[in-house]
Amino acid sequence: MPSIPLPRLNLRNLMLAMAIFSVVITLCNSFYATYEVQRTLLISNTLEANRVYAAKLAEVTDSFIQSTRQQLAYSARELVTHMDDEQALMAEARRLHEQSNTFNSVVVVNAAGVIVATSPDTLQAKGLRLSTASARQSLEAQKPLITDPFVSPSGNYIVSLSHPVFAADGNYLGYIAGTIYLQHSNILGELLGRHYYQDGSYLYVVDRNKTLIYHPNEARIGERISGNRVIDEVLQGREYAHNVVNSSGTDMLAGFAPVASTGWGIVAQRPKAATLAGINEHLLRVIMKSVPVGLLTLAGIWLSALFISRPLWQLATSARLMNRQSAQAEISGVRSWYFEAAQLKRAIVRGIGLLNERINKLHTDSHTDALTGLFNRRGMQHVLDTYELERVPFSVIALDIDHFKRVNDSFGHDTGDEVIRTLARVMQEQARRDDALCRSGGEEFMVFLPGTATEHAREVAERLRKRMEATAIPGVGHITLSLGIAHWPDTGTAISQVLKQADRALYRAKDEGRNRVILSESD
Ligand code: GH3
Ligand code: MG
Ligand code: MG
Repeated sequence: MPSIPLPRLNLRNLMLAMAIFSVVITLCNSFYATYEVQRTLLISNTLEANRVYAAKLAEVTDSFIQSTRQQLAYSARELVTHMDDEQALMAEARRLHEQSNTFNSVVVVNAAGVIVATSPDTLQAKGLRLSTASARQSLEAQKPLITDPFVSPSGNYIVSLSHPVFAADGNYLGYIAGTIYLQHSNILGELLGRHYYQDGSYLYVVDRNKTLIYHPNEARIGERISGNRVIDEVLQGREYAHNVVNSSGTDMLAGFAPVASTGWGIVAQRPKAATLAGINEHLLRVIMKSVPVGLLTLAGIWLSALFISRPLWQLATSARLMNRQSAQAEISGVRSWYFEAAQLKRAIVRGIGLLNERINKLHTDSHTDALTGLFNRRGMQHVLDTYELERVPFSVIALDIDHFKRVNDSFGHDTGDEVIRTLARVMQEQARRDDALCRSGGEEFMVFLPGTATEHAREVAERLRKRMEATAIPGVGHITLSLGIAHWPDTGTAISQVLKQADRALYRAKDEGRNRVILSESD
């Protein structure tokens, strides 16, 4: 029978592969989810922290501006009666400048736009007349003002906070202004720069015209920034936070808040990369913590796979060798503890049982003569092969019914069959357990007597002959037999030769008048 190639995969490996696949996918998925959740959380926390920080600084800046305005207003009132008194103006300017570190310089300007007092007096601006429009902002406004950034007559890039001086009759006398040098260390730096982070976080301030008035990189102060969503929104008075890319292309998490009194916007931002710096390490920790449980799960799955697949595996390997004698016993011994395996086991056991039954029946059928139930020629050959293989010496009696044609002719073929059956029954009655009885053809038979010498065989043959002769067959009467005897290996070395000798002895019995037993002489 051609063998069908077996698949290399087995159930246990399939189950294992599937389980490992599921575990790995589940773990990856949960790692990914952890990573994503962590990342989102870090980003939103940082955005919120920056928003709150910007709002706080905006508030601080606002209250600083308020108090500065009060100081200027106070000074302006002090100056009303002293606008012509240079000493007094200088003294007030110095007091205002030096009493705190709020201003980089203080100037007093008269109604004609001429600087009449400065502090520090090293400024060398006294007596200068303000000519440019940006320098004359406070003069034109004649009210408390925070100017846009401009270049002062002494060459500093500044914003100035001014308060007008009005005479009692309402006449405009000029103003007093405190300045902040944007490109030097100044009060904004004091207020805002103190909490500068090391990881690339920073904050900056824009004025209402989108001009940078405070930035950790001084070179950028005075730069006007357009197209920045954060700046656009903060200058519309919005307090919020966004993920933006800064001018140097860095991804930033920026919180922002407006300074109500000045219209400025404060932006506090932190690089996204710095925010997420620890996340990989964190994920690694999560993975390390999951590994033991993951390995335990896999081990559990492996054992379960073994346990579940075991009965099927045993059934399958036993079924592969179903033609082996022990297969049925092996399969019966399989512990099939769940439905499918139990059903398969039952089916296989029943299948093997049926198969064995059929094989035995076929075997018996193919070796048995249908009319008599004795061995046919094939059965006889099987017996002889066994004797030869096992070197079992035997005597053989060949026998033939005398004048059987007459029986057929006188009583018909069916009666002839009945006579043959009767003879077979008599032979069976006479035979010992180990004797093999064969119908070698028509009404000819052979009896094999293992381990029996010819003399004893002759006695058996004689007994059979007499028994048959004495048996009355209903409707037929009595029949006689002629019998020839040979012995293997005494009368011949080849079994076929011995059978022929038995036949020859039988013919001699016929020749010598029938109803007798003749012993073969050895060749
Ligand atoms: P002999 O004494 O010389 O043996 O004479 P015989 O008539 O018996 O001659 P032979 O053995 O040659 O005859 C065999 C006859 O047996 C031929 C055949 O008609 C008959 N026969 C063979 N097989 C069967 C059978 O199965 N049933 C019946 N009814 N007759 C059979
Ligand atoms: Mg014959
Ligand atoms: Mg005959």
